[in-house]
Amino acid sequence: MEKIDLRSDTVTLPTPAMRAAMTSAALGDDVYGEDPTVNRLQEMAAAMLGKEAGLFVASGTMGNLVAILAHCQRGDEAMLGHLAHTFLYEAGGISALGGVHSRQIPNQPDGTLALQAILDGIRPDDDHQPITRLVSLENTHNRCGGVALSVEYTRAVGDLAHAHGLVLHLDGARIFNAAVAQGVSARDLAEPADSVTFCLSKGLCAPVGSVLCGSRVFIKQAHRIRKQLGGGMRQAGVLAAAGIVALEQNIDRLAEDHARARCLAQGLARIPGILLDANSPHTNMVFLSLSQEIPYQAEQVAEMLAERGVLVGVVGARRFRLVTHYWIDDRAVEQAIQAFADVLQTAGMSHSLAA
Ligand SMILES: *Cc1c(COP(=O)(O)O)cnc(C)c1O
Repeated sequence: MEKIDLRSDTVTLPTPAMRAAMTSAALGDDVYGEDPTVNRLQEMAAAMLGKEAGLFVASGTMGNLVAILAHCQRGDEAMLGHLAHTFLYEAGGISALGGVHSRQIPNQPDGTLALQAILDGIRPDDDHQPITRLVSLENTHNRCGGVALSVEYTRAVGDLAHAHGLVLHLDGARIFNAAVAQGVSARDLAEPADSVTFCLSKGLCAPVGSVLCGSRVFIKQAHRIRKQLGGGMRQAGVLAAAGIVALEQNIDRLAEDHARARCLAQGLARIPGILLDANSPHTNMVFLSLSQEIPYQAEQVAEMLAERGVLVGVVGARRFRLVTHYWIDDRAVEQAIQAFADVLQTAGMSHSLAA
């Protein structure tokens, strides 16, 4: 049985064009700066994000870690949303490995941090307190439903941060989803940020890697920290080759993932027992919950869906996240909707897919 894997866009396998590019990539030792394919990817990424330089890293987690360690000294404070990926899902690396103190600012439902809350979070010059050094934003915002932050908002945070001597880091793991969804360039979304990371291995389909971009001076520092963390890779061009294909071929098509997420949401919304989040989806993530009448927990429903070949993300006792991507076509969307309808009917619900 062909699996329909909606757990994440990280499950995407490389495309045939990527596998071909990986086979024929020109290679060298990237720790010496001599891998032409890595160099090309870094230059492409930096140009697309409007920054001077780029650094290929093993993961989005490593990109955020390297960036925050490059910007902050031990004991400095970094402001993160309380639902930020860096706060929740990066194993506390900035604190464990960099001695960076994190300060949580409430994420609003639209993924933003209120400007006043950022302002209020900036520490006064006082020997008792850590030094506030950095603000980090996330676009699209994963835990807030894949919602995209606007150019205007990002600019406002950049202006505020810079006016107070802080740096702005942007966790743009899915920045191209944010750009495509809003009809703006990733360059404009990244412009206010001093550093930005994005993932090649999510909706863009590459097997491994992220790129961190920023000024030449910043990237030189980041390069040393990547080495400290054990992230200096040798003939990494085999991976970067897939990343180049990702940037050349797989950005515009993210609009298809967003359209399929909307179809998926519309189909699921018609099934009794399913409650879609308001405004979901914003991009390629559909968030939904089970209504009270359903006698199962999300884990149990996920198991029954898996028996029907449909894999979904469980993100709460009665809550799911479904992510569309390159390998989810129209038929997979229909099958996923049907599987939910079948499973919830098994739960004793009457169901009708009629519009
Ligand atoms: C996926 C993700 C990352 C990094 O994830 P890796 O699995 O380490 O590549 C960082 N931030 C956000 C918002 C993400 O969704």
